[in-house]
Amino acid sequence: MKQNRRDFILNSGLIGGAILTGGLNTNSLAKNININKKNSKMKLTFKPYTLELKHVFTLATSSRTTTPVMLTQIEYDGLIGYGEASMPPYLGESHESAAKFLAKVDLTQFKDPFELETILNYVDKIDKLNPAAKASVDIALHDLVGKLMKKPWHKIWGYDKEKTPNTSFTIGIDSKEVVIEKVKEAEEYKILKVKLGRDTDKMMIETIRTVTDKTIVVDVNQGWKDKQFALDMIHWLNERNVKMVEQPMPKEMIDENAWLTDKSPLPTFGDESVQRIPDVIKAHGVYSGINIKLMKCTGLREAHKMIDLAKSLNMKVMLGCMTETSCAISAVSQLSSQCEWADMDGALLIKNDPFVGTKVIDGRVVLNDSPGIGISKALPH
Ligand SMILES: [Mg+2]
Repeated sequence: MKQNRRDFILNSGLIGGAILTGGLNTNSLAKNININKKNSKMKLTFKPYTLELKHVFTLATSSRTTTPVMLTQIEYDGLIGYGEASMPPYLGESHESAAKFLAKVDLTQFKDPFELETILNYVDKIDKLNPAAKASVDIALHDLVGKLMKKPWHKIWGYDKEKTPNTSFTIGIDSKEVVIEKVKEAEEYKILKVKLGRDTDKMMIETIRTVTDKTIVVDVNQGWKDKQFALDMIHWLNERNVKMVEQPMPKEMIDENAWLTDKSPLPTFGDESVQRIPDVIKAHGVYSGINIKLMKCTGLREAHKMIDLAKSLNMKVMLGCMTETSCAISAVSQLSSQCEWADMDGALLIKNDPFVGTKVIDGRVVLNDSPGIGISKALPH
């Protein structure tokens, strides 16, 4: 091809420039990457924090006004991944147990944060139990890796951000007056999750039905002890537009829960009976679905696998939470398009959330496009 002089100068200039700058850039970039790979080590730090609840929270077995959490960070290559362990006292973890566990986690031995399987398998094997403390590492690592990829996890997993569900708003066991007040507070929400399991169950539902006809789901927290009583209650609830029943009887009553699920007009969900992957298989035939929580199952990696397993067994999936900051809520919300029921109001129940992230708008879980789990630090009040 013929070139005039001007084209030749331009082309050679461009080519020369490209070689020059390309050469320099590539070399210096490669050098930087090598330096970073060599010197960058994941550094895990953690800090105890106490969530203050807006209302006293009463379940079938306990009441409380605060929840201890552990906030974690993994620093790597100038980025920070955030994580959290939420530890309601009745589940057996605490600031002390989490600190003890996390002190044993040595991430400096791993060169590459992308090795999620290897790293999180190592964390899981450090000690038994400690699922929330393990989740705090899992969440921070996912946040970090998403930030390195510059993508939110719902996108990395290939989920449709527009298909997120409505979240329920939890109403604890309380007096008529407080229940009515809470229903008003929950005006924005399309689904109410009502805690049952004491001798006030019918009063709770009747009180709510005097002020609203919106969808109710109930969580008995193992509070019913007799299968025939449970079945009668479920029929009564079904007539009052209740759509599902969580953990109707104690987790140890496997045959009774299976009998109930078989006869129940409403789907039943195992919560206390389902912690980790092997429990999904055990719950098959006992409940219609499972309630997955990051604090029970050690985090996003295992939750993701449990969803796929439950679906393959034709079981329904609910994603739940503890009282948590927007950190853990934003993490679980990355999976939310994959569930039938979402209970992601944990951060809405607290007064001192240190993060902003996934929002609930008109009762629906709304994801953002920020990388990782989609959070940033809240401005100081
Ligand atoms: Mg529950």
